[in-house]
Amino acid sequence: ISKESNRLMNLVQDTLLLTKQNHRIEKKKLELAQLIQNILRTSGPQISEKMLHVKTQIDKVQLKTNEAMIYSIFENLIENAIKYTPERGQIFISLQSEKGQIVFSVSDNGPGLTEIQKERIFDRFYRVDESRSEVKGTGLGLAIVEKNVQELHGTIDVVSILGKGTTFTVKL
Ligand code: ATP
Ligand code: MG
Repeated sequence: ISKESNRLMNLVQDTLLLTKQNHRIEKKKLELAQLIQNILRTSGPQISEKMLHVKTQIDKVQLKTNEAMIYSIFENLIENAIKYTPERGQIFISLQSEKGQIVFSVSDNGPGLTEIQKERIFDRFYRVDESRSEVKGTGLGLAIVEKNVQELHGTIDVVSILGKGTTFTVKL
């Protein structure tokens, strides 16, 4: 079995697991800044390989939430920014607490998306330019992100300009 189908199976399993958990989502108090630092540490090799400039502005925020879901949201959005931004690109990650809301955003100065692409990126298995893309993926990441955000009663939106970059913002 190829590495890619293994990855696909893992993602499908994650999704099924999360669906099963829906009835009783376990929540605990989490240091969100810590989670983001862990993700960035894990992504360290790709960040240095692509010589990406990653800037962060991360408030110390605690939230009672489901760890697997919030981790998956942060990880998929950060991973996408790293994957789709070309070498020496810039990524900005911010986490802020505003009026009792938590606002998490990931911006990059990567390829950006057209209006039509923007409407489809949350669809399962959708990938921009699948045939030409050298970047591997299954097209499930954002579908999982959207599902988890809904599960946590939050919102996600995307602002993107073709050729300039993309910003995903999650409010919880
Ligand atoms: P997977 O996350 O399952 O490994 P994937 O990254 O292709 O695969 P998604 O995360 O769902 O899947 O993203 C869907 C598509 O949206 C991507 O294939 C890519 O074309 C586009 N996309 C996602 N994030 C960005 C981004 N930050 N900049 C430009 N395009 C993006
Ligand atoms: Mg992805």
